Amino acid sequence: MTPTPLIFAATCDLAGKVRGKAFPSDQLEKRLKRGVGWTPTNVMINCFDGIGDGPFGALGDLLLIPDADAEARVRFGDEPAEHFLLGDIVTLDGAPWDFCTRSLLKSALDRLHAVAGVRLIAAFEHEFQLKGDPAVANQAYGHEGFELHRALCETLMGALGEAGLIPDSIMKEYGPNQYEVVIGPEAGLRAADAAVILRELTRSTARALGETATFTPIRDVASVGNGVHVHMSFLDDAGEPVGYDADGPGGMSDLTSAFAAGVLKYLDTIVALTAPSVISYERLTPHRWSAAYNNLGLRDREASLRVCPVTAKDPASIARQFNIEYRAADAAACPHLALAAIVHAGVQGIEDGLTAPAPTEEDLSLLSPEALAARGFIRLPTTLQAALDRFEASPVATGWFPDGFAAVYRAHKQAEIAHLDGMDTAARCAAYEAAY
Ligand code: GLU
Ligand code: MG
Repeated sequence: MTPTPLIFAATCDLAGKVRGKAFPSDQLEKRLKRGVGWTPTNVMINCFDGIGDGPFGALGDLLLIPDADAEARVRFGDEPAEHFLLGDIVTLDGAPWDFCTRSLLKSALDRLHAVAGVRLIAAFEHEFQLKGDPAVANQAYGHEGFELHRALCETLMGALGEAGLIPDSIMKEYGPNQYEVVIGPEAGLRAADAAVILRELTRSTARALGETATFTPIRDVASVGNGVHVHMSFLDDAGEPVGYDADGPGGMSDLTSAFAAGVLKYLDTIVALTAPSVISYERLTPHRWSAAYNNLGLRDREASLRVCPVTAKDPASIARQFNIEYRAADAAACPHLALAAIVHAGVQGIEDGLTAPAPTEEDLSLLSPEALAARGFIRLPTTLQAALDRFEASPVATGWFPDGFAAVYRAHKQAEIAHLDGMDTAARCAAYEAAY
């Protein structure tokens, strides 16, 4: 018997989970056109395998069409090669399905282009932890902590390269057994695809080496969280960078300033999509270098949105390197959906002609709610429930998505919240650690 090589056609769904179906690899040509069958109710499956109360029931059929531009094929040791293609969910007539996260991102990117004539370039930076206790403690940014898992880091970087991503750097992060892996910038859709591929290959790499990796937003509230930071810049149709202006505040061009202003204005309404787990709100608290307020920072890792430093010296290279970083995201979010929400918020800022506020350089947690409000800052929602309420209460934000999207998203998340009923924080963290 010869095993049949299989290709897994995949979608990253509302739960941020990668699900799909496999087919024999010699069918690829046919499947790139016709896809594999898919079921609407799958979108209600939450990260705990519960099913929210959705409008779909047992009815309906969809197609998941793999995209040859979103392929990952990597062999770990003697195992069969891991091989998957991300794809789009369409109706039987071939129209994008309203809950296909990849299609939602495409329409956000199209809106950015229609409104501002620019394309997004993005890079996702991920933190993850290996489960279990580290063999050596006290290894924040440590050399020994890095060497302890050099094989894993080297295997992971090799796997990312083999999958066509751009390995940038990898480090031992602050937390116990916490690592951070960075890949290079890519065009909008590809950047989100790359984030999904990176998460899956990190888990596979760990498994191949007898470890288990988790991207859960926070494992232990006594320690730090695992963030996802999204770096963004813009190119015009000629491929020239248009995000930087040497004379602009913090180096931001008018375009970047308006985009940043939109993201900050709508931040409290989009965190439900970018930090979408119950425990995400344990991470989005002051003094964790995550994000707790809708503030802009220049060199400030407590800011939700940060203008990143550039190392280049000549003006052309500075303009290419210049980027802003969204820090209020985590890996419970589907990268496509999170990026769609960020882009829509930014485009809203451009459409509305907003200007970015002055960057903060202080500890906002020391200010009273009144002092914060007087300066236009708000504390981000402190629970998933409150974040969902903010999203649903904003006709502008819900209007960026197809009719009915917000209600389906709410129902999906409500079942996830209900699953955790009666659990204490440690038990909730443990549940998410097992899910992401
Ligand atoms: N662990 C932090 C977070 O949850 C980020 C630390 C850093 O600046 O890299 O976002
Ligand atoms: Mg980090």
